[in-house]
Amino acid sequence: MISMGTMEELRDQNHTLALYCLSCNRWGEANLDRLIQNGKGNMPVTEARFRCRDCGEDMINTLEYTAELARETAYLYQRVESVIPEIEWPTYAPFVAAINHLKKERNALILAHNYQTPEIFHCVADITGDSLAVARKAIETDAEIIVLAGVYYADVTPLSVDPPRPV
Ligand SMILES: [Zn+2]
Repeated sequence: MISMGTMEELRDQNHTLALYCLSCNRWGEANLDRLIQNGKGNMPVTEARFRCRDCGEDMINTLEYTAELARETAYLYQRVESVIPEIEWPTYAPFVAAINHLKKERNALILAHNYQTPEIFHCVADITGDSLAVARKAIETDAEIIVLAGVYYADVTPLSVDPPRPV
């Protein structure tokens, strides 16, 4: 659990601040050392604004949990409220929202193994099950991109889809 503190606290806990540009579909990372050198050490992480170097749009600060994001993800939190404490949801929600935006834009399908963590399994996955089940269901989709959220220790069922699509 990341505490929503200042830039300096974030760096001292060895965390990074991931940023995401919805327009470019690009991840970036805030340069915490430079921000702190420039006197922003005491700035609350959630107040910082970052601009995409490619398109100039505001990037999503992945630690930012705004009232708008809370509303947008409220129905998703209901699916995991028995396993994710409310105080931790602001850590997950920005990632969940960014993944779901990107998924829609790219016409992607997300498959998740039963052993996936709850925020992936319940909040971003389209198809869930054991390895064989997700492989079988994936064959029936017309999505352009298939994302497989597996687990390290699960056996791997080769996904062979005809026509071939990026997995
Ligand atoms: Zn951009």
